[in-house]
Amino acid sequence: MALREDQILRYSRQILLREVGGRGQEALLAGGARVDATGASGLTAAAYLVGGGTPVAGVGSLTMGPWSPGFLVSAADVGQPVASALAREVPALNPDAANPQASGGMLAELPSAWSGDAPWVALCGDGARAGVVFRGPEGCVWCFGETVRHLGSPPDGALGGALGALGAVVFQRLRLGLGPALGGRWLVPPGNLEEMELRLCSRCTARQGPASP
Ligand SMILES: [Zn+2]
Repeated sequence: MALREDQILRYSRQILLREVGGRGQEALLAGGARVDATGASGLTAAAYLVGGGTPVAGVGSLTMGPWSPGFLVSAADVGQPVASALAREVPALNPDAANPQASGGMLAELPSAWSGDAPWVALCGDGARAGVVFRGPEGCVWCFGETVRHLGSPPDGALGGALGALGAVVFQRLRLGLGPALGGRWLVPPGNLEEMELRLCSRCTARQGPASP
């Protein structure tokens, strides 16, 4: 898929980045993201993905709550399913990203049911910090599942918004084939980024061998 002239103009800032380039921008436009989220973090992430050219479609049975407006959706969307709200907002923000059949990746606020192709990006929290857990196609599904199973929902408000921006960057990096294939980061107020220790599945634990004394 070659970029059109209007697309080269629209994404010129991204295309100029060494990590993206013309090929990378084509990859972002070709791959989708299924979004299961109604909060500040997930909707902010969706808005950044859409702005960058990733086709986004809402999935899941969640409906927009009174906390949803302000990030991508409006007060009129409260009570609406995430799929229909995004189906209306995404084309308005970027017609390139309007694809109700968007597939090939998932971004969700925890808790969520994970399925389909990578990249997977989970937005979460532990009460004090905001977190993101991610896996590319090479990352272990079971380690990802074991880690997100123990994490709570992401914060709302400004910290949630910042987490969403981080989540979108992580998703785009994985789409471009940039590693690591599995990982997690904590966003600690006011703005520190720290490595998150992942929980390993039993198979990866066995492969690692017993911890050295
Ligand atoms: Zn594993």
